[in-house]
Amino acid sequence: MPLDRKFATRASRMKASEIRELLKLLDQPGIISFAGGIPDPALFPAEAFAEAFANVLDPAHQAQALQYSVSEGYHPLRRWIVAEMARIGVDCDIDNVLITSGSQQALDYLGKLFLSPGDTALIGWPTYLGALAAFNAYEPRYDQLSINANRPASDYQAAAQQAGGQVKFAYLSADFANPTGETVDRRGREALIDLADELDCAVIEDAAYQSLRYDGEAVPPILALEIARKGSIEECRTVYCGSFSKTLAPGLRVGWAVAAKPVIAQMVLLKQAADLHSSTINQMAITRVAEEHFDTHIPKLRAVYQRRRDAMLDALSRHMPNGVQWTKPEGGMFIWVTLPAGMDGAALLARSLDTEKVAFVPGQAFFADGSGANTIRLSFSCSDEPTINEGIRRLGEIVRTG
Ligand code: PMP
Repeated sequence: MPLDRKFATRASRMKASEIRELLKLLDQPGIISFAGGIPDPALFPAEAFAEAFANVLDPAHQAQALQYSVSEGYHPLRRWIVAEMARIGVDCDIDNVLITSGSQQALDYLGKLFLSPGDTALIGWPTYLGALAAFNAYEPRYDQLSINANRPASDYQAAAQQAGGQVKFAYLSADFANPTGETVDRRGREALIDLADELDCAVIEDAAYQSLRYDGEAVPPILALEIARKGSIEECRTVYCGSFSKTLAPGLRVGWAVAAKPVIAQMVLLKQAADLHSSTINQMAITRVAEEHFDTHIPKLRAVYQRRRDAMLDALSRHMPNGVQWTKPEGGMFIWVTLPAGMDGAALLARSLDTEKVAFVPGQAFFADGSGANTIRLSFSCSDEPTINEGIRRLGEIVRTG
């Protein structure tokens, strides 16, 4: 191809998502898939959306719904988000909120806003693959964020300087992370704020799964803890990224960012340059559905996903041989399995697809340093309990036969 030598250096770090490539292979009949981290489409509030779209397309609203709109986002939706954020302890106003096209877009903008080539982004090992994809384009260096590990700030700083840049942010999903399902406790969140203060860097709090808690006690968002400490969101370094993808529907591509006003103002400029604004009609429809159905819909989702999580945990304990470990998530969609040392997740997947027709995601892709070969990610969101039990039984068989 004559043009590939003309691509910018950043293109060399963009590669096809292994997960997306994998998902393409799974459209075969008979496969039990624990691979995709997606909501169960049977749980979409489809009727509520049909009604909402009919409403926003009626003669009173259609001109607005089909027109360009402001980059900051649809005002009533931002108002709803301000109220929702207040409920989880984040005191902010409308100018602290930007509507994005999914929270994925916020991650891209934050990479673009903070990272010069060679700067350091602190991430978990493993971390959300989409965050790596978003940040990679801005040519950062990654360092492992170790909360509570007593690694001094000066150590992170020295390594960043040696690489020719600064630590710009720490990125994490504090609730039911993708891929591990794990939650950072309050102490960890406080320690992270301390570390970010010492490093003088931002915190990107990815809250994509935050509403999906099934048991245990909710931990306040990092942004809420930071506001409590510093008195106002304007003093805070945390940027909170929310999403309707896991609660209402991902296809509409509506998410949001909440941060100090100067950060939001800068993100608005990025949005003006990138796509002007998120889809007006989708924002209007999601506002109606959120206002009228969010509070009744979320408990229904939680009940179904909780049963599926329980079924998977139960099946793992019955069918996995000794030496296999897994996380016990209090919410979200994922269980993270660590296989015996030396067992390879990718090889296991190949065998599993071949003989048992069970799919999952090998864990190595989630590690910026290429480690984690003996890990796999299981998603319980899209299968009913008997299917989960059968799939884990077959998986146990494959692991046992090595
Ligand atoms: N963050 C995490 C941790 C995710 O798992 C996802 C979706 N897989 C996203 C962000 C992006 O979601 P969306 O853009 O649909 O809001």
